[in-house]
Amino acid sequence: MVYLDYAATCPVYPEIIKNVPEISEKYFFNPSSLYRPSVITKKFFDSVRNSLGIFLSCKSENILFMSSATEACNTVIKGLDYTRRTKIVTWPLEHSAIINTLQKCTSAGMSASYAINNKGYIEYKDIKDLIDHNTKLLVLMHVNNETGSINHIEEIAEKVKKFDNQILIFSDIVQSHAKIHINLENIDFACISGHKVGGLKGCGVLYVKNKDILRPLIDGGGQEFGIRSGTENTLGAYALLEGSTITRAKFRNHWDHLLNLNNMIKDHCKTMRFHINSPENRVPYIFNFSTMKLPSEVMINALSSKNIYVSSASACSGKKKSRVLTSMGFKSVIVDTAIRISLHPDTEEDDIKYFLTELDFAVNHLSF
Ligand code: PLP
Repeated sequence: MVYLDYAATCPVYPEIIKNVPEISEKYFFNPSSLYRPSVITKKFFDSVRNSLGIFLSCKSENILFMSSATEACNTVIKGLDYTRRTKIVTWPLEHSAIINTLQKCTSAGMSASYAINNKGYIEYKDIKDLIDHNTKLLVLMHVNNETGSINHIEEIAEKVKKFDNQILIFSDIVQSHAKIHINLENIDFACISGHKVGGLKGCGVLYVKNKDILRPLIDGGGQEFGIRSGTENTLGAYALLEGSTITRAKFRNHWDHLLNLNNMIKDHCKTMRFHINSPENRVPYIFNFSTMKLPSEVMINALSSKNIYVSSASACSGKKKSRVLTSMGFKSVIVDTAIRISLHPDTEEDDIKYFLTELDFAVNHLSF
């Protein structure tokens, strides 16, 4: 199998799978109960939170475990108070967890303004005219999940805070977490997903600088500092931490390898006159291009029959056209024939060679 869809989800690391039985058995207790094994489970859970705090260079109490990054996005957007400031500034290339949540919320009084540009990434100058003293929140992802484009969020956040330090900043760092460094100093909220870093599905993190300004979406037993009730997912949190640690080491040690694989694909696209949809300002582990010849779905099925797995847009958009590429202003033939490749340090050169051979075969034999 040649799996080239790591941005959709990542296989659970064997090191984590190996420890699942032990962690599940040893720490199955409810951390809120009073007897000794529960106290030990609570200590373990707290140690995971502490280690993740060290990992992200923040305090452990800034970390809230929840079910997914999607839940984290909902918690921020729906949990803030918009009575004094009503505006959210963002761009159309955010993940559906943001865009669809914003669409629901606009009907509740708050308004969203979208920065438009065709570059595929945002600079401060693109949002400068949108932010004002009525702006409550700026939502800007770090790395785009479909094109791999990078928003230099630290730099943008610093400038926004200089303009008005009451503007809150939320960055979806799902696709950059443990892969490229981020300094959270000027960032008020950030979300992370366990299954994108070789952990388990069903566990995400919301980093929150100031918990007091968030209204909980889920009420109940008051877990996670009262912001996210529900019995703690000890195993999921452990796997998210372990996955983050392993991912960071692998990406650090094999960055040049990823650049090399990315160049192989890019050079091939140039030779074949495919359209490159990812901007130059991108990470090496996500690459988006269009064959201009074969509809994405046909290509995905053709490659799938050879045990090569790629996607056309974000996994959750399913068969729908890519909103991201459409928002970048690409014409329909580009959007309709797009392919997204996402790599991992474990991806081998031979995997890419096999993929490119089968890609060409499909283009040459299946297009009209
Ligand atoms: N944000 C981005 C950029 C993503 O790629 C994803 C996953 O597809 C999400 C958010 C949602 O993550 P989760 O699956 O944890 O809800």
